[in-house]
Parts: sequence; structure tokens; C-alpha cells
Amino acid sequence: MPKLKEECGVFGIYSHVEASNLTYLGLHALQHRGQESAGIVTSDGVNLHNHRAMGLVSDIFTEEILSHLTGQNAIGHVRYSTTGSSQAKNMQPIVINYFRGALAIAHNGNLTNARTLREELEADGAIFQSTTDTEVIVHLIAKSKEETLLQRIIEALVKCKGAYSLLFLTPEAMVAARDPYGFRPLVMGKLGDSIVFASETCAFDLIEAEFIREIEPGEIVVVNENGVESFKPFGESKHAYCVFEYIYFARPDSFLTGRNVYQVRRALGRQLAIEQPADADIIVAVPDSGVPAAMGFSEESGLPLELGLLRSHYVGRTFIEPQQSIRNFGVRLKLNAIKEVLDGKRVVIVDDSIVRGTTSRKIVKMIRAAGAKEVHMRISSPPTKFSCYYGIDTPLKEELIANSLDIDEIRKYITSDSLGYLTLEGVMKAVDDTKKLNGESFCNACFSGKYPVELTDLKKTKQKQLGLFGG
Ligand code: AMP
Repeated sequence: MPKLKEECGVFGIYSHVEASNLTYLGLHALQHRGQESAGIVTSDGVNLHNHRAMGLVSDIFTEEILSHLTGQNAIGHVRYSTTGSSQAKNMQPIVINYFRGALAIAHNGNLTNARTLREELEADGAIFQSTTDTEVIVHLIAKSKEETLLQRIIEALVKCKGAYSLLFLTPEAMVAARDPYGFRPLVMGKLGDSIVFASETCAFDLIEAEFIREIEPGEIVVVNENGVESFKPFGESKHAYCVFEYIYFARPDSFLTGRNVYQVRRALGRQLAIEQPADADIIVAVPDSGVPAAMGFSEESGLPLELGLLRSHYVGRTFIEPQQSIRNFGVRLKLNAIKEVLDGKRVVIVDDSIVRGTTSRKIVKMIRAAGAKEVHMRISSPPTKFSCYYGIDTPLKEELIANSLDIDEIRKYITSDSLGYLTLEGVMKAVDDTKKLNGESFCNACFSGKYPVELTDLKKTKQKQLGLFGG
């Protein structure tokens, strides 16, 4: 069974006459964080209204649909792509009605003890409607005997382990919460008198909102008619910001921990050129995510950056393949090599990561077929050896090529003349070069296998993965 995908993006806006339209735009800017499904829930002060569907934000929401999402407060969610419509039951935000009223929740992250909590709740009579870990949080809140929404949320979250950046919406209030480690990003801004929240700052740029600050790890922010209040109910933990957000996942125009993602990626490329130089004629990026690192590599090495690979941005979910099969159809649909650039050249290809190795192998072959004399693969991160259980989609450990093969064996598999990865120290140096580290610490479990928060479900079940869950 493949590991379920868990990457997501969230957006929220409190007190704006165009709440649903602006949430639509915010989600559009966060589309890279999830393409399986999207949803918006609005509050008109009395009721919640919602629309969720499978697909891309711009396909799901029409003017007509948005006009029915009335009210001045809204939260929205995008979820990563998986195959099959069976995932429709896992669309977010989740909306419930319980004896205290209506509640909606949007989650980016992954709880590491969701299965354990779910079993306890089910033993107590709870009935679940989805396979997401997020529903566990909903049940815990509904069960709580605490008086206020904030106290109920705290009681629920104290029981949850792992990664969560959450937005809650009730008819009266909006609440943002980030786990004590701060795995996944969550930022706060303002648009006139309205308060906005988003996974990444790029969502603020589109709606011309002003970035105020990040929600701190372990912070809960409540927004209601009395204003904005901040709480730190969990005590202090060591932070574990996800380093892979810089390497691949976040959009280059976003800021994380005060660092511009593009500038970090460019510094990663410079560092890669220092650690893994190559005797070559040109640098070629694997578009789009490899471009900033390739620019940095070119800058440091003095070798020219060329457009040797072109990406099509119009590849949809399914494609009709001609009867007569075309070799490497999937990758060819997305990428094409420019022969005139590559013919007779010694080429350095820069990408951000190798997961299973299939993309790199196809790209190397494509570059050679276009006439390259030598192909040198350079990766702006360390070998990905371990699965992420904190909200980034990675396959099972066994499917990660660097988990079972050493670097030279990987080189042989991808058929390149050489292969070089960046060290973890090099990654941290690039982060520090972009903006001096100031006591922040990062999660690098996908490279080091050091998991900052216990993988309770995994340990308990001795299973290879969290199975059911993904949100
Ligand atoms: P693979 O073919 O499995 O080795 O995938 C490597 C490619 O996937 C690289 O070009 C990466 O930019 C990209 N990539 C890395 N991590 C992820 C992820 N979590 N989700 C989607 N794509 C990814």
C-alpha cells in the first residue's frame, strides 16, 4: 500500500467583505502545496457555509460558487494529489456540527499518534467519517468538557503529537495554532483591518496583505470581535522547522524564518559548487524546482547556466497516450531537452533532490540523447534516506533509492558520469549565509533519520507506515 500523501496548504481571513474571494486567491497562491482537492468554509456570524471538491482551485471555484460562500470570515485548504476519487472523503476543511455549534478545521501537517488516539476514541464509541488524522482533532475538541473554544482546542492539542499548522473557524472566531516544534510554516498578516493567516507569505503578496510575523511554534492565536490574542499553552520545546521546505517544497517567493526561499536555494547551489565541483562546459537546471540552485552553482563555478531542459506547465492529471507507445512518455510530456544547447557539451544537471531516482534516470538519458558528451548530476540536498512523518509526502523508506544504494550505485542507476550531493552541514551553511542563524533549529529527519517527535503509531504497530492517515 502506498503511503498516503500529506502535503497541504491553509489560508484564512477574518473580517473582510470579500472573504471568500480573497481565500480563493490565497489558495491559488498555495496551489503548489496540494493539488488533489481544495475547500473553502465561510462564516456569516451565525452559520458556516462550505464548498469542497477534488481538483485545482481555479477549476473548483466559480463566481457563482463563491457568491454562495457568504460572510466576512473564511478559511481554506489545498491538499496534495493522490490517485482516485476515493480520497473525496478526506477533503478539507472538515466541517462539523456538535452540541456547541459549528466548527471547521484546516490542517497542514501529520500527527504521529493519530492511529493511537483514534483507537482510543473508537473504543469510546466515536465514529469516524474520513481516514485523516485531522478528524482525530475534531473528535478530541467535541469530547472536551472545557468551557471555551480555546480551552477545548488546548485540551485536544496537548494530546496530539507531531506536526500541525491549523486554522479553526466557528461562527464567532478564527483560531490559528502551530505545534510546539513548528514543523510546518504558518504566517500572520493584515489587510486593512482584516487579519490573514497562510502557510506561506506568497499568499499575502497576491492579495496585497502585509506580513506581520510567523505564528510561533507552540503558539495559538485567537481572533474574534474583541481583537487578536496570543497564547503559549504548551511550554517551550526545541524548534524543528522543516529544512525541506527551503530545499523543495515552499514557493521561492515566500519567506520562512525571515529567509527568502529563493535566496536560500541559490545559496544551496553555491555551496554545492564548492563541495561538489565539476569539470564541465554548462550548467542546466531541472525546472522548476532546480532553477535557483542551478543559478547559484553557475555563479560560484563561473560556468554558464543554459536552458537545456524545458518544462511544460500544462500537464494535467491524466493524459491520453497514443496507441503506439512513446518511450518515457510521462517525463517527455513534462520535460524536453534542447538539442542545440546540449550537443557535444559536458553538462552539469542540478536538481533539488532524488527520491526514487526515476526522474534523474530519465533526465540523464534525455540529455545524452540530445548529444551531451558527459552528464554530471548535482543535488542541492543530502541523500533522502528516510520517510517524512511530519507532513511532507515521501514514499516508504524502502522505495527511497538512497536508503538501499550508496552514492556510486545510485550514479550507476541514473547512468550519469558523476553524482554529487550537498552535505547537511552545507545545507545549514546556506541557511546561515542567507540570514545568520539565531538559535533556530531544524528538522532534517529525511536525511539523518533523527526524528524530533516520537513516531508513536509506527513504533506501536511495527508497521512500515502510518497506514490509514494523511491530512
Ligand atoms: P524521483 O523521480 O522519485 O527521484 O523524484 C525526484 C524529483 O521529485 C525531483 O525532481 C524533485 O524536485 C521532486 N520531489 C522531491 N520531493 C518531492 C515531493 N515530496 N513531492 C513531489 N516531488 C518531489
